[in-house]
Order: sequence, then C-alpha cells, then structure tokens
Amino acid sequence: MIRKGLRCPKCDASIDSQKVSVGSSFHCEFCSESLIVRSPYGNLLMGTSVLLAGLLSFGFGMRGLRLAAAVFLGWIPIYYIARVCLNFIVPAQVSRRSPENETIQPNLGPDEEKSKGHG
Ligand SMILES: [Zn+2]
Repeated sequence: MIRKGLRCPKCDASIDSQKVSVGSSFHCEFCSESLIVRSPYGNLLMGTSVLLAGLLSFGFGMRGLRLAAAVFLGWIPIYYIARVCLNFIVPAQVSRRSPENETIQPNLGPDEEKSKGHG
C-alpha cells in the first residue's frame, strides 16, 4: 500500500497508488512512460528487520540454532510492520525506468557470515 500523492515525473499526471506497488514497474496511463516505484528505504529496512529480530531473539536468551530459526522467521513480520509504518513517514517515489540506463543492482540480502575457526 502506497499513500496517495504519486505523480508521473514525465507528464505530471497523478498515479493511482492503489494500482502500483513498491519495486514493481508499470506504465503511466497518460503518457505510457515506463515507471517504477522506488522506496527510499528498501534494503536498509530489510537489514534493520533482520538485525532487530536477531537482537530480540538474543535478548530472549536464544542461542545457536534456535537463534538462527528465530531470526529466519522473526524478521518477516517486523519487516512488514516497519514497511507499513514507514510508508506514512517516508513516501515512496516514482521515477522513470529508462531501459538504456538500467543497471542490475546487486541484491543486498542478509549476509550469512559465519565466523571461522572453533570447530
Ligand atoms: Zn505520464
């Protein structure tokens, strides 16, 4: 869900926020410009959610596999709640999606970094 107030950067037509979702590309109804909705938080929010889930689980005394499982399941609800809340604070932005300048962004997911040694 995106809050209202989105506009096409090319023709300045108002975009029905009910029809678009963050991260997905679409075409402007008026000028057919290829557009994409970007959230200014994106990967940052995902990382924060994972971190929060980890800290909470750790705080509750979970260790090892339990901690891993709790983080794995726990970050998802935190992510969605935070995303809905942030939608009201930081509105999503519409930008043009030109195929020429399109670059494949590396997917900055949660890194699984395991500490070495101690076998
Ligand atoms: Zn347009």
